[in-house]
Amino acid sequence: MMSELISGLYYEGEKIADTKAPLDVPIEKCWETRKFTAKLVNPANRRKLKIIVVGTGLAGGAAAASLGEMGYHVDVFFYQDSARRAHSIAAQGGINAAKDYRNDNDSVYRLFYDTVKGGDYRARETNVYRLAEVSANIIDQCVAQGVPFAREYGGLLDNRSFGGVQVSRTFYARGQTGQQLLIGAYQALERQVKAGTVIEHSRHEMVELILKNGHAKGIVARDMTTGKLEAHTAHCVILCTGGYGNVFFLSTNAMGCNATAAWRAYRKGAYFANPCYTQIHPTCIPQHGDQQSKLTLMSESLRNDGRIWVPKKAEDCDKDPRDIPEEDRDYYLERIYPSFGNLVPRDIASRQAKNMCDEGRGVGPALAEVGPDGQERMVRRGVYLDFADAIERMGKDAVSAKYGNLFEMYERITDDDPYEVPMRIYPASHYTMGGLWVDYDLESTIPGLYVGGEANFSDHGANRLGASALMQGLSDGYFVLPNTVNDYLADKLAEPLLDGDDPDVQAALAEAQERIDRFMSIGGSRSVDSFHKELGRIMWDYCGMYRTHDGLLEAIEKIRALRKEFWQNVRVPGESVGQMNQSLERAGRVADFLELGELMCIDALHRNESCGGHFRGESQTEEGEALRHDDKYLYVAAWEYKGEDQPPVLHKEDLIYNNIELKQRSYK
Ligand SMILES: Cc1cc2nc3c(=O)[nH]c(=O)nc-3n(C[C@H](O)[C@H](O)[C@H](O)COP(=O)(O)OP(=O)(O)OC[C@H]3O[C@@H](n4cnc5c(N)ncnc54)[C@H](O)[C@@H]3O)c2cc1C
Repeated sequence: MMSELISGLYYEGEKIADTKAPLDVPIEKCWETRKFTAKLVNPANRRKLKIIVVGTGLAGGAAAASLGEMGYHVDVFFYQDSARRAHSIAAQGGINAAKDYRNDNDSVYRLFYDTVKGGDYRARETNVYRLAEVSANIIDQCVAQGVPFAREYGGLLDNRSFGGVQVSRTFYARGQTGQQLLIGAYQALERQVKAGTVIEHSRHEMVELILKNGHAKGIVARDMTTGKLEAHTAHCVILCTGGYGNVFFLSTNAMGCNATAAWRAYRKGAYFANPCYTQIHPTCIPQHGDQQSKLTLMSESLRNDGRIWVPKKAEDCDKDPRDIPEEDRDYYLERIYPSFGNLVPRDIASRQAKNMCDEGRGVGPALAEVGPDGQERMVRRGVYLDFADAIERMGKDAVSAKYGNLFEMYERITDDDPYEVPMRIYPASHYTMGGLWVDYDLESTIPGLYVGGEANFSDHGANRLGASALMQGLSDGYFVLPNTVNDYLADKLAEPLLDGDDPDVQAALAEAQERIDRFMSIGGSRSVDSFHKELGRIMWDYCGMYRTHDGLLEAIEKIRALRKEFWQNVRVPGESVGQMNQSLERAGRVADFLELGELMCIDALHRNESCGGHFRGESQTEEGEALRHDDKYLYVAAWEYKGEDQPPVLHKEDLIYNNIELKQRSYK
């Protein structure tokens, strides 16, 4: 059953539901029960099965290493030159786990509760509970691998706090947690490479998915050094290809992060869930001009000890902050949210920073932007993150021991010494809660296609809490996928791998080739990056921290026009084979972002409520907080592709809360 066309933009189709989580047992027994009911593959039979893993970040690296260790044949693909250069390496602040080392009343249930509440009650209970349950195992696994987590003097693992919680459950390795965790996963992966169970394909970009009778059976990858297209087949495919935050052009993500693998799968039938749920991180170094292509994150861990403020009076905004007396400073998060103070969740901290700057109390150089009235205006987009109190309380050496490398990074970029002058920070695109829809087994709507890490629509609802992405990636990679793909693979033993002549393999190769030929033949006059930059500006202005009905409609029109121009006027220099061609690589990624951006706006438009990172101007409380409408929008929005320039179809997955009471979120 399909509805009439809604708002001229999309249809509504049948509801969907997760059918894998056993709902007839208490939530604490769900994962154990699912593992027991899932079909098994006998250890001796695993070597007869081949699995493709795309991605070697924490999710993909952990999954490939674990599946190899279990005895499967694994082919792993990534576009960097080394598996350990995946974007996970950039993660700074930490990883959560319900260990209760601090004896502050933490528990699996509290981590589950905090995550569901932090996500503004838009996540699936069963998945989040499992994440909390598995969290403690992740730390044990990583310690066993030798990950050098920070320790207290007595030798126990140290913890700190991240936003949206009132316990200390974040494990960290100075400001390099992602790097250290990734080295752990990488070592495990290389061990399997040596053992012969895993084959690595570096500098290979997946550009198409191969389906046979509706099942995922392989990928088309482009060797980025030779330009050659290659078909690789397997018994199932796992995508751990990261998030799509770079749709905003300026973001904290690595420059290469892109949505192509997920988008190609979407176009082949995998539903895309909650694309409008993106996270804007409050503590990034502000944009300083027009010629920038990257924004730098200052870890959320800094909010443990740094205090955020702006001048009370607009006329103080261009003063040296050290000359502004205490009584003229507005520590606005501590004022508005006394219980959580500077550690409110990211969506709230970001919105309040924007509000302060909109009020004219931002700091730093003023930049030109288009105001809500369509006129250009000059606005200071920055707030202070101040360590003066912490230095006085703990001493400079203690602050340096905790945050030294972050301070050094800040000074290198801004030429300001944060030990002397408060940092200036502003929100930036950082993480995407949306992604490919998956069930409890992390299987997408395409049988045999599994999705892990940031690439799936994940466990974070409408807003992810800090230090929970690393937890989810490693949970998916080390613990969930290795215990669920077996259910799909158990009856595939007699199934031969598709060979290169198979018509479906040939069709996928031809599709990928046609697309490349199209890019190379346009011969227009605009660079790929100029389109990306313009798209990013549209997304930031209309589908960023603040969204409205009219603004989103305008964005959709602008994106469509930009996409049309892209396909007529993009310039991709060089050759498609025989050399590296970064313009061609980017053209494919930007073409996909131009489609994804439109879907994000349609999703944001249809969800006429505010929740987490999705803030609709039309739906706020009297105090300006996000106002949800649980009566209408208590569902996951899973979108189905229906063809080029065709309206997508919305499938709703109802969210059922049996273990947590729905409440208006409050951090006051
Ligand atoms: C600056 C920064 C700091 C962060 N700090 C924290 C933190 O302290 N704590 C926390 O919990 N989270 C943090 N996060 C978020 C977290 O780092 C990410 O969500 C997480 O690392 C994503 O891991 P992943 O394995 O899903 O994907 P990634 O690490 O992004 O890996 C993606 C992999 O997929 C491959 N790939 C992608 N597309 C293709 C394709 N088409 N073909 C072939 N290969 C492909 C890439 O080569 C790569 O190997 C941070 C994020 C940023 C940007």
